[in-house]
Amino acid sequence: MGPPSGENNVVVSSNIKLERLLSMKGGKGETSYANNSQAQAKHARSMLHLLKETLDGVHLNSPEIPFVVADLGCSSGSNTIFIVNVIIQHIIKRYEASGHSDLPEFSAFFADLPSNDFNTLFQLLPPLANQDVGSMEECLASTGHRSFFAAGVPGSFYRRLFPAKSIDVFYSAFSLHWLSQVPEIVLEKSSTTYNKGKIFIHGANKSSANAYRRQFQTDLAGFLKMRSKEMKKGGSMFIALLGRTSEDPTDQGGAGLLFGTHFQDAWNDLVQEGLITSEKRDDFNIPVYAPSLQDFKEVVEANGSFSIKKLEVFQGGSPLVVNRPDDAAEVGRALANSCRSVSGVLVDAHIGDKLGDELFLRVANRATNKAEEILENLQFFHIVASLSLK
Ligand code: SAH
Repeated sequence: MGPPSGENNVVVSSNIKLERLLSMKGGKGETSYANNSQAQAKHARSMLHLLKETLDGVHLNSPEIPFVVADLGCSSGSNTIFIVNVIIQHIIKRYEASGHSDLPEFSAFFADLPSNDFNTLFQLLPPLANQDVGSMEECLASTGHRSFFAAGVPGSFYRRLFPAKSIDVFYSAFSLHWLSQVPEIVLEKSSTTYNKGKIFIHGANKSSANAYRRQFQTDLAGFLKMRSKEMKKGGSMFIALLGRTSEDPTDQGGAGLLFGTHFQDAWNDLVQEGLITSEKRDDFNIPVYAPSLQDFKEVVEANGSFSIKKLEVFQGGSPLVVNRPDDAAEVGRALANSCRSVSGVLVDAHIGDKLGDELFLRVANRATNKAEEILENLQFFHIVASLSLK
């Protein structure tokens, strides 16, 4: 399966590199995603009413047919398990309210890139309820157990992941702002699009930011094309991803503050201290793009397979969860850990984990000095979309 719009081989090979490498920090340690995703959990909970609206639009098939949910970009914490439960419980209520005497069996696919720590995720899954007894009704009645069959799916959501017409509900949260690759042209030293001096497009030159925008739109187009094949007739999709309120792509909003300020300065520190060359810094780019509503909408409309039930920018709040907001050092550490839990794998692959430690130490120190400002200004906005197959 090729990339969305038939690019050349160079693009394909660098595409595959990021696909093989990218993951959030695995395990349950201090800088792991599992341990640094409470903010995402909070943001997801604040959108549950929107998710439920999406679920109210899903067509309910006869209960003899299994009901299938897929979480795309599930990562390795408990957030995905919580959400899959919410989805299934809501669908059960709908079956019950619609007078069906039987419930379908439920199956949930947890999809992420192959380097994702699926082991940690699988260990967090409660056991399947009453397996010996066998009836789904009994499964659903017991608490502390899961009421769905579970499977992990390794692969990029920019490619096919499932058989045609097999999924009722797609859910994807805080994942689609990850590009399939850093655009080639941003890495070309001789090009005016070269992202010189920067590791992200926040505050960068317009042409680098526009290259990111094109990459985002190509990627999203591919994503929608694949999902439109995989979704059952009557199925729905709920998407939340980092977004921005500004029209200007060089203003990346909350993502810009996270990756484009203290993180950027810490890279500059490593260069100034002679620990890495400026070229080494310039070759690193965070493959994240926070789109505007317009960036997103254009692609959905051009794709044409989905009707837009809802599309809005939703204020998510801070990506940091701190117990003692007046403890500047804790705020500094929280910012560094949060940044490392999502970008650490890429950083370590680029400069090694020893220099990675040095880098994030500097992020923490710089953020400690700006703790008050960070708590005041660091805000995430999300684009939330509810789409159903036409
Ligand atoms: N949905 C989870 C995790 C979000 S973290 C939550 O709400 O907490 C973003 C996840 O997207 C990461 O695990 C990352 O590996 C995954 N991801 C990024 N690009 C991807 C791609 N092309 N295909 C599949 N997963 C991807």
